[in-house]
Amino acid sequence: MKRLILFGPPASGKGTFSGQIKKILPNIAHISTGDIFRENLKNKTPLGLKTKEYMDKGELVPDDIVIDMVRDRLNQEDAKQNGFILDGFPRTQAQNQALSEITEIDLFLLLVLDKSIITKRILGRYGCKNCGEIYNKYTLPPKVEGKCDKCSAEIKFEQRSDDNEETLKSRLDAYEKNAKPIIKYYKKRGKLRKVDATDTLKYTNDDIKNIVEI
Ligand code: AMP
Repeated sequence: MKRLILFGPPASGKGTFSGQIKKILPNIAHISTGDIFRENLKNKTPLGLKTKEYMDKGELVPDDIVIDMVRDRLNQEDAKQNGFILDGFPRTQAQNQALSEITEIDLFLLLVLDKSIITKRILGRYGCKNCGEIYNKYTLPPKVEGKCDKCSAEIKFEQRSDDNEETLKSRLDAYEKNAKPIIKYYKKRGKLRKVDATDTLKYTNDDIKNIVEI
């Protein structure tokens, strides 16, 4: 059972890397706060409507909303039994403090990559509307143009609503402001592992096993 935090700037490949970890640990719960918010937005739930204005601007959703949501999710049986990957949480010190009161963490994986790569990834990123598989116009197109590799659905390039140049800056600023003390917290406790995220798809299953220490 592994309890992992996947941490890194926007578009550092947290979603892709979570998929690689899930190949090794198929039952681990992948908890992406961004995905949960997007799903709620799509379904126009009260939570989705409440968080829309923040997400559209690339701003952080208020801590109390995110913390309650993550606490509920971590209390579900699958996360308790099979461990979890937290992807996109914690993003602030208040979230980290709350998390430390909810559960132990085994490893804090910090995805490290160059800023110039982040820009290219964000502006080219899109996903399959049917299965969620992630592609990039510049760096990771589907094998057959217009067709999802995973589920064969028809796909076209369509940016996430918050993946644009205006929100990119505020998302990167928010990351830089909040990241340092959180990274320091896990470093101090010997949980920090740095992962070169320039091209995580080059990692073999054995590499991933080494990284997550199984
Ligand atoms: P992401 O997909 O992780 O880049 O998240 C997309 C958006 O969801 C962010 O720009 C925030 O508006 C919101 N969000 C996701 N996770 C958090 C979090 N831990 N704290 C606050 N806002 C979040």
